[in-house]
Amino acid sequence: MTFQTSSESKSVITVRHLNYYFGQGDLKKQALFDINLDISMGEIVIMTGPSGSGKTTLLSLMGGLRSAQEGSLKILGQEMRGASQEVMRQVRKQIGYIFQAHNLLSFLTAKQNVRMSLELHEEYLNQDMDAISTEILKTVGLGNRVDYYADGLSGGQKQRVAIARALVSQPKIVLADEPTAALDKKSGRDVVEMMQALAKQQGCTILLVTHDNRILDIADRIIYMEDGRLAENPNSAALVH
Ligand code: ADP
Ligand code: MG
Repeated sequence: MTFQTSSESKSVITVRHLNYYFGQGDLKKQALFDINLDISMGEIVIMTGPSGSGKTTLLSLMGGLRSAQEGSLKILGQEMRGASQEVMRQVRKQIGYIFQAHNLLSFLTAKQNVRMSLELHEEYLNQDMDAISTEILKTVGLGNRVDYYADGLSGGQKQRVAIARALVSQPKIVLADEPTAALDKKSGRDVVEMMQALAKQQGCTILLVTHDNRILDIADRIIYMEDGRLAENPNSAALVH
């Protein structure tokens, strides 16, 4: 199997022979099998594949949300296998996450939700974080909803706040797990196009998991997960069993 290769230096995500297991002893079950992948700076990659094939597991490893067990996983040049909690925390700060559910805090306004993400970054603490938050909310078309509580926003609007929150600190990598799953066709398309535009503007790399065939065209490259194996063509993953 060949993957589009890029020089190591431009590769922001490098995965080699990555295996992942859930459970212990008799209950141990392999979820990822020999994953190999390079994602370059500024690239938008869509990962698709059936439910239960391992997409979320791979994304959570890349995001430093769980520890790599076997093989190698480098995020922004940092080896994640065997990384300390502190290293994982530093890597997590450089990544923006967008989940299927928006995960906004309902008792905060749109602006406060975005601002919270900035507050995690020391370099923003002496800047006008309200102004920066307002600005990115305008960019995602929510200039007139800045002071609305998350509860008072529609599904599509909430997901746009989630995008603003993920991108406001200009992360090098955005990981999005089925971000349009809860949205209607038009809102789904809108939020993905917004994500694409913002990422291109900031030069950030996106890895987006989706089942939504209508948004595949925003990708520079599409990869497929099947039964814990990765392939560049649908069904070819099954052939390497
Ligand atoms: P996808 O995101 O493609 O739907 P997942 O990565 O969520 O797939 O799941 C891949 C496999 O790992 C599935 O067989 C799933 O049942 C299993 N799995 C996922 N999370 C856990 C967990 N926390 N504990 C045990 N098994 C899990
Ligand atoms: Mg999933």
